[in-house]
Amino acid sequence: MRIWLSPPHLSGREGALVQEALDSGWVAPLGPMVDAFEADLSAAIGAEHVLACSSATAALHLALLAIGIGAGDRVACPTFSFVAVANAIRYTGAEPLLIGAEADSWNMCPSALEDAITRSERAGKPVRAIMMVHLYGMPADFDAIRRVADAHGLPVIEDAANALGSTYRQRACGRLGDLSVLSFNGNKIITTSGGGALLSDHPEWVARARYLSMQARDPAPHYEHSQVGYNYRMSNLLAAVGRAQLPDLPDRVARRRAHFEAYRAALSDVPGVVFTEEPAACFSNRWLSCLRLDGPRNADRPPLPSPTQLYSAMAKQGIEVRPLWKPMHQQAAYAWCDYVGDDLADQLFASGLCLPSGSSLTDAERTEVIDQLRRCLVDVCLL
Ligand SMILES: *Cc1c(COP(=O)(O)O)cnc(C)c1O
Repeated sequence: MRIWLSPPHLSGREGALVQEALDSGWVAPLGPMVDAFEADLSAAIGAEHVLACSSATAALHLALLAIGIGAGDRVACPTFSFVAVANAIRYTGAEPLLIGAEADSWNMCPSALEDAITRSERAGKPVRAIMMVHLYGMPADFDAIRRVADAHGLPVIEDAANALGSTYRQRACGRLGDLSVLSFNGNKIITTSGGGALLSDHPEWVARARYLSMQARDPAPHYEHSQVGYNYRMSNLLAAVGRAQLPDLPDRVARRRAHFEAYRAALSDVPGVVFTEEPAACFSNRWLSCLRLDGPRNADRPPLPSPTQLYSAMAKQGIEVRPLWKPMHQQAAYAWCDYVGDDLADQLFASGLCLPSGSSLTDAERTEVIDQLRRCLVDVCLL
């Protein structure tokens, strides 16, 4: 591939900060760069307590453990999402209760959530927590989800892995939930090459997560362990990379949003191509620009190619596009879970495509993506 979906983007300041970390002698896991990165994130997002982790998946696992989720519990989560969410629930021994998508944001549908929780309660399997996601950077309808959570007395864990820099009713994604999670994986808005963070205003939950993230070591001169722990902390060297990137966040969001606007301006006229509007309460970082191929076509036009056909055709041109997430209820690993929702998530998977959206994507590369995609969509012979 020559043009990737969302490759790592370096600011140019990483080398100096990593060198500073090396010069300080703090190469072993923790150190002052981790503390400073946690303080930077706290200032950027507004959350009082931040724990830098080895990945967002680790942070999701810790969030669940911090509020006491364990074997036999049920946790509601969106079916249309990245697998890390359901995986983290399974790591605790709990069972995911899969919830369908809603049309405005493609995120977890609040009415399906209410329905699922009520049904689950009646069946004698009460839900213990809600895990919500802002997919592709588009904020979920948080207030509606919060109303459902409050009505049932449930904590909300917010997966903002895609949504650093997005806001919902002027509030930063990453500080909406009782506990929130960010990702700094290589394909996210900012990267530490691999990493994540847990954020919360509840000191006791973050303290518990911190303890569990360092092998649950009890205070003693020797190694004393009263509980099972994990090795989930971020390294000091990687925190330096994150600190170098965070100041560029507004520019990166602006760049990704500009990609979306350019794709929409250039492709909306293709019959059947549909872009999703930003709901009024939401500001999306447009982590990935997505489109759907589902409008009716004229009888004299050939049918639109499928996302999989476009993936192959564009790959031949060296351009990475991808189908949208495959719903968890369609995955062999999670098909056994209860699912409450309609078939929107299935339709999204069957008809949706993500386009190259990295903040380092140049105007010329974007034009090439548009030209190639138009050729694939208009001249199906290419496939
Ligand atoms: C990337 C991603 C994660 C996992 O992040 P890692 O840091 O790679 O563990 C979790 N949830 C969503 C929605 C993601 O896109």
